Amino acid sequence: MASNSKVDIGFLEEKKSWQLHPRFFPSKVGGKPAWLDLQDLPSPNELLCKKCNDPLVFLCQVYAPYEDSDTAFHRTIFLFICRNGSCCRTNNSDNFIVLRCQLPRKNDFYSFEPYEEVETEDFAMDKWPNLCNLCGCKGPSHCSKCKKTYYCSRKHQILDWQKGHKQACPELQTADSKPNNFIVTEAGKSVLFKEWELIVDEEDEEDSKDVDVGEEMEKLRKLMEEKRAGTLSNVSEDELEQYTKAMPEDKVFNKFNKRVARHPDQVLRYDRGGQPLWITGNSGDSIVNVPNCQYCNGERQFEFQIMPQLLNFIGVGIELNSIDWGVLVVYTCKSSCNQGPAYKQEVIIKQDLSS
Ligand SMILES: [Zn+2]
Ligand SMILES: [Zn+2]
Ligand SMILES: [Zn+2]
Ligand SMILES: [Zn+2]
Repeated sequence: MASNSKVDIGFLEEKKSWQLHPRFFPSKVGGKPAWLDLQDLPSPNELLCKKCNDPLVFLCQVYAPYEDSDTAFHRTIFLFICRNGSCCRTNNSDNFIVLRCQLPRKNDFYSFEPYEEVETEDFAMDKWPNLCNLCGCKGPSHCSKCKKTYYCSRKHQILDWQKGHKQACPELQTADSKPNNFIVTEAGKSVLFKEWELIVDEEDEEDSKDVDVGEEMEKLRKLMEEKRAGTLSNVSEDELEQYTKAMPEDKVFNKFNKRVARHPDQVLRYDRGGQPLWITGNSGDSIVNVPNCQYCNGERQFEFQIMPQLLNFIGVGIELNSIDWGVLVVYTCKSSCNQGPAYKQEVIIKQDLSS
């Protein structure tokens, strides 16, 4: 995936859930996480929002192996986010967590050779820990009535009970089978994001000549201004115009627009060891302060960034107080070390358009 000078770009495509199963090592957005190491999952208290203490939910994952490393033949970076829009603060990523997981080619979970892409293939579930029926994260506690559905937290158990498990529970009490952990339940749909495959491809090298860059990206800017100012209906064109004019010229933002216009639908930019494409020059220099890896003490480097376009695809409204970001910039251990837990914390920096 990584190359010397070219940037890779991620787009979204609809896929069936089974095609995004962990055995296919997918890059994906929304739904439940397709865990890589299936045993040593992060514990629920590692996946709590630092602001409101609610369980975080899965946002996306990027499959990005280190081709020449034995310990990272398979390698996936996972992003989790708090569902409460009120936990979003400008240029602050406390409502996110990013985890890196990697495996050698020969491992306890997957075959040495790639799996055939068929739906019916059996995949042993005995290696799996119990997963939360709602969000797909580790579920240490279970429903006391059926003892067959598991939960990461009391919050998800209550939500699941209210939106479906109350009906399903009596049947499960007498059934032989366990519920299917891959299905997103009704309650899950109210918390998890719409599921997509993330397809990664090379960026065009040339700026396109026909596209009116300004016009394309002005739409994005307006969308963001609207979110900031309140609901759509509260803001008149004139007000919006004045607000936009009041902002000083932002060269970084102009450069961002020009580059993004090559592929207006991009949701990811992958450029391991390269430079992020910042969205604004108005946040000051203090935004980048990337600590060394806490496991090997080695340097971290830029790996990829999530673009604001993703917000348009995951069913997040533009109402006041919904989830928001400018760019989400992810830094990971340069050597992709193998120390520490199976799911290792990395660094995410959120840069917003407003200051
Ligand atoms: Zn929160
Ligand atoms: Zn859960
Ligand atoms: Zn039950
Ligand atoms: Zn490291």
